[in-house]
Amino acid sequence: MNKLNKNYHTHSIFCDGKGLPEEYVNKAIELGFTSLGFSSHAPVPFKNDWSLVEEKVMDYKNEIIRLKNKYKDKIEIKLGLEIDYIPDVTTSFENRRNDLELDYVIGSVHLVKSENNGELWFIDGPEEGYKKGMENLFSSPQKAVEAYFNQINEMIIKERPNIVGHFDKVRMYNHDSLYFQENSDWYRDLINNTLNVFKQHNTIVEINTRGIYRKKLKDFFPQTWIIKECIKKEINLIVNSDAHSPNELNGYFDETYNMLKEFGIDINYKL
Ligand SMILES: [Zn+2]
Ligand SMILES: [Zn+2]
Repeated sequence: MNKLNKNYHTHSIFCDGKGLPEEYVNKAIELGFTSLGFSSHAPVPFKNDWSLVEEKVMDYKNEIIRLKNKYKDKIEIKLGLEIDYIPDVTTSFENRRNDLELDYVIGSVHLVKSENNGELWFIDGPEEGYKKGMENLFSSPQKAVEAYFNQINEMIIKERPNIVGHFDKVRMYNHDSLYFQENSDWYRDLINNTLNVFKQHNTIVEINTRGIYRKKLKDFFPQTWIIKECIKKEINLIVNSDAHSPNELNGYFDETYNMLKEFGIDINYKL
């Protein structure tokens, strides 16, 4: 089976993506994919312009199940969600799994609970918001980064997602270590401790290509040195493009699989 032909991280018009789920399916078949997973952003209990809304959750499920059946001879389709974890704010992953009979869950942290009365730090929006968190919501950038990884680790332990999404996204705007030193001992220790949590809980680490094909970043989420650490620790990896339109379904896949081949590893899907 061709390893390039899978992607489990996609967003359609049900959340912040462009394109109907069926358009993704047709594009995936055209690309020769054998498997396609849908992972809309699960609802969160506050107003936003990027997540599925609670009232549409069952429509989402029904549409993906309809496509699963309609195209079952051509492609394997999986029903998933990308669920945010914010302590004491988000719904438990288990409830979502049961309500929707999900095939899998991607657990991600896009909003970090801050020291500033629990104000949420949105790391994935415009840079001003990111900067505000680094400079004002925590006592130091290091504390902000530590809070992000603490939240990731807590999510893995409490909620047990199958896959952890873009797990070093906290360096979103940290180009040339503008906000914190990525080669400092404390940062490398944080990463290594987090990898140990993934290893203990058998979490699959996603190699997310989105930053690269959108030319926003020069490296993956997580960075290449971290991918090498995952390989050393025998942590399961998968390659996802976090597609927000059908034409992003295989974004930077050829290059990524070539790199992994050079590293001498086979991607081991556990879904
Ligand atoms: Zn995400
Ligand atoms: Zn996503």
